[in-house]
Amino acid sequence: MPKLLGLRCRECGAEYELQATHVCEMCFGPLDAVYDQAALKKIVSRSRIEQGPSSMWRYCDLLPVEDSVAVVTLGEGFTPLVKAERLGAELGLRNLYLKNDSMNPTNSFKDRVVSVAISWARAHGFETIACASTGNLANAVAAYAARAGLECFVFIPIDLEPAKVAAISVFDPNLVAVRGNYDDVNRLCSQLIESTPWAFCNINIRPFYAEGSKTLTFETAEQLGWKLPDEIIIPIASGCQFVRHRQAVRELIEYGLVRGERVPAFTGAQALGCAPVYNAFHSDNPDRVLPVKPDTIAKSIAIGNPSDGVYVNRIARETGGVVEAVTEEEIVDAIRLLARTEGIFTETAGGVTIGVLAKLARAGRWKGDETVVAYVTGHGLKTADVLASANGHSSKRVEIDPTMKSFREKVSIS
Ligand SMILES: *Cc1c(COP(=O)(O)O)cnc(C)c1O
Ligand SMILES: [Zn+2]
Repeated sequence: MPKLLGLRCRECGAEYELQATHVCEMCFGPLDAVYDQAALKKIVSRSRIEQGPSSMWRYCDLLPVEDSVAVVTLGEGFTPLVKAERLGAELGLRNLYLKNDSMNPTNSFKDRVVSVAISWARAHGFETIACASTGNLANAVAAYAARAGLECFVFIPIDLEPAKVAAISVFDPNLVAVRGNYDDVNRLCSQLIESTPWAFCNINIRPFYAEGSKTLTFETAEQLGWKLPDEIIIPIASGCQFVRHRQAVRELIEYGLVRGERVPAFTGAQALGCAPVYNAFHSDNPDRVLPVKPDTIAKSIAIGNPSDGVYVNRIARETGGVVEAVTEEEIVDAIRLLARTEGIFTETAGGVTIGVLAKLARAGRWKGDETVVAYVTGHGLKTADVLASANGHSSKRVEIDPTMKSFREKVSIS
């Protein structure tokens, strides 16, 4: 018996058969995957998960694939959840954790969603995988398409960071650099789904792609000893993963995997240079997310017209979370703060998340004993250029001759 029953509109509840489509024909609402919950309830258990592989596929029962043997995988997920003692001490948090998703195969969170999307697409006969990307998605799609032996078309904004372009190109995809920003790229690709037989990970097969996000929250609960934290800090681009993390919590409770029914506060993080969800959250009408033109170093989350923005605001409010935003300088400071205190080098999106965490902590949001988890979603080598241009070299750097004399003159030993 298949566990996946079909697709359902998040707005009007209209139901659809399983197919590569993502919008409701009745009301244009987004479509979500529907599972046979009664059947899953009988098989899902902590011990069954714990016996699974050390990857996100230990959660295959809760993902939209019927044959877990045929999945396209590079060992994504089950990334470290580290207790951040030193960063916590700086911020007055005694139970601060970082979910380090920069440790994924292509060094970002996107490997989770892409592994699911490509597995679904291949199982359903697609021969070409495509995506509209701010960078990390193209990187993951190019790698997983290579792994699966599928054709690949990735569409990126023309001004992407050189390190990201190199990390995409090495997999030899058809790389289409569009003269425009991500929202232009996305609009073009939304038109292309009509005239190509391609699976666009984040467009026509988005309902399946999105499901991969849940594993980040499943793992966090498992790694906390099958407990939910008090608050989660999540970076927001389209808002897709934010919404799926809320669904993941619902499933953890529904399937009895965690004790209790208390839902964490869901807090969102944006860069002020692209903050449509934050703007709406703090306006009179959080249900109206007005598009903005992105201008920020946090390019991987620079989506000016986020499809799930309204849902992010509803979830943040309903769970007691907030949506906060940080300046460009705060992003770079946060990248350095995380590196200096915890030995973790994150990209600008992680700078946004840690920047928001620091801002809220310093404003007195927490008493100190709450369990707070920040999702660090990408690796610093992807955006290393922002450190050089923002602050120059390390303040502790010296240059010396290869002599003891020069060393004694220039280096002070404490
Ligand atoms: C894509 C991405 C996000 C956010 O994803 P959405 O689901 O679109 O909100 C966060 N961090 C990084 C590093 C990403 O690449
Ligand atoms: Zn609908």
